[in-house]
Amino acid sequence: MTWETVIGLETHVELATKTKIFCSCTTAFGGAPNTHCCPVCMGMPGTLPVVNKKVVEFAARAGLALNCEITRRNRFDRKNYFYPDLPKAYQVSQLYLPIARNGRVAISTEDGEKEIRIHELHMEEDAGKLVHDPWLDQTRCDYNRCGVPLIEIVTEPDFRSGTEVIAYLETLKSTLEYLGVSDCKMQEGSLRCDVNLSVRPAGSQTLGTRTEMKNLNSFKAILRAIDYETKRQIERLEEGKPVVQETRRWDDNKDATFSMRSKEDTQDYRYFPEPDLPPLELSEEYLEGLRQQQPEMAHARRARYQAEYGLPEQDAALITGQKALVDFFEETVALGAPPKEAANWMLGEMMRRLKEEGQEPKEMKLTPANLAALIALVEAGKINRNTATKVFRAIFPENMDVKEYVCTHGLEQVSDPALVERTVEEVFRAQPQAVEQLRAGNGKVMGFLMGQVMGRLQGKADPGAVREAIRSKL
Ligand SMILES: [Zn+2]
Repeated sequence: MTWETVIGLETHVELATKTKIFCSCTTAFGGAPNTHCCPVCMGMPGTLPVVNKKVVEFAARAGLALNCEITRRNRFDRKNYFYPDLPKAYQVSQLYLPIARNGRVAISTEDGEKEIRIHELHMEEDAGKLVHDPWLDQTRCDYNRCGVPLIEIVTEPDFRSGTEVIAYLETLKSTLEYLGVSDCKMQEGSLRCDVNLSVRPAGSQTLGTRTEMKNLNSFKAILRAIDYETKRQIERLEEGKPVVQETRRWDDNKDATFSMRSKEDTQDYRYFPEPDLPPLELSEEYLEGLRQQQPEMAHARRARYQAEYGLPEQDAALITGQKALVDFFEETVALGAPPKEAANWMLGEMMRRLKEEGQEPKEMKLTPANLAALIALVEAGKINRNTATKVFRAIFPENMDVKEYVCTHGLEQVSDPALVERTVEEVFRAQPQAVEQLRAGNGKVMGFLMGQVMGRLQGKADPGAVREAIRSKL
C-alpha cells in the first residue's frame, strides 16, 4: 500500500519586545538564574498583570503579514496545568478569541507554489526552564523566561512532507524577520516547533490518528523526526497495530521518538477567561495604522529586484530569503555599488566565506561600506578581479579596511601603459616560439603569453589592457 503523510505545525515564536508580556522585566536571553523576574511574572498572590502594548502590536502585525483576519475584540484565557516551570500553575493564553485567524502562506515546492492555511495565531506567555544537575541529582528552576511573550502559529494539516515543512518555516522565519517582531534564533529557542503527524492510505480523505512531537528546535531535527515518525506509524499499521494518540519526545542522540504521555485534550486544561485582564479592543484606525507600517515583504521585493535591478530570479530569491542579506544588499547599493555587482559578490565570495567560517549572514563582521569600497576599486580599474577576490578573502573575517589593505600590500593595478608595453616586449623577446604560434593563428597561446606578462607584473595589470598590448604588438 502507498501511504500519505499528513502534517500540521504549531510554531512558538518569542517576540522581540524589550520587556515581558505582563510586567516590565527584561526579555534578554540568559542572565544569572532568577534575576529577570518580579512578583508579577512569578505569579505572587495579590499581583496584577498589565498587557504590554508592543506584544499586541507585534502579534497583530505578524497576523496581517500571514494574511489573517484580525480579531477586533480579543480576550485572554487561563490554561491550567501544574508543572514546576510554571510558578503560577496556569499560563495566560488565548483559546476562544485568538488575535488572528484564517490566514495563508505561499511556499515554493518542487511542484510549484503551494498554499498553507493558517488556522490561528494567538498570544501567550512563555514558561520558565528546568535545569537538571546530574551530579547533585537535582532539578533547579530558572524563572527568567516566565512571561516572555510568545505567539503560537497553528497551521491546518496541509503539509505532505518534511521538505514542505522546512519551506514553510523558512518563509515564516523570513517574514517575522522582515517585520522585526522576533530574532527567530532557533538555537536560543526563539522559534520552536511541535509537529503533529499522521499517515493514511494515499487517496483517503479521513485523517489517521496523530502523534505530537514537541519542541523541535532545528531544521535537521524536524526533518529527521518526521522521517522516523512516518516510518514508525506505517510499520505499526502494516503490522495491524493501532497508532496511539500521544505526545512523543524526539531524542536527537538516539535518532528516535519516545512516548512521553497520552495527549491532553482541551478540557484537561480547564480553560477559563482570564479574570485579571479586561477584553482587548483593537480599533479599525489602529489596525489601519499597522497596515501602513508593514515593510515591503520578500515576495514584492523579489519582483522589484528583478524589474528594477535586472537580477536573475534565482539571485533575487536568495537575497530576499533572508532579511540580513536584504539589509546588506540595499546598503551596499545605496553606497553606489552597481546592484548586479553587489549581488554577485554576495552570492559568490561572501557565501563561500560564510560557509568556510561556519557563520550566519547576521553574524559576519564585513560591512556594506567595505564591500562597496572594494567594488568601487574594481570599477575604477584600480585593482583587477583576481586581486579583488584575494583582497575580499583576506579582509572578510575581521572587516579590515579595503583601501588600507590594498595600499599596504601594494596591490594597486599597474595602469601605466608604457610599463605594460615594455613588459610585453620583454615577453615577446623571451618567448619567440609562442609569438610565432600566435601569429600563425593559434589562439590558445594568447592565455600563455598573457600569463607571462601578468607574472612579470605580479598579477596587478588589467587583463584587458594586457591583451590589447599583445594584439597591437603582433
Ligand atoms: Zn516580571
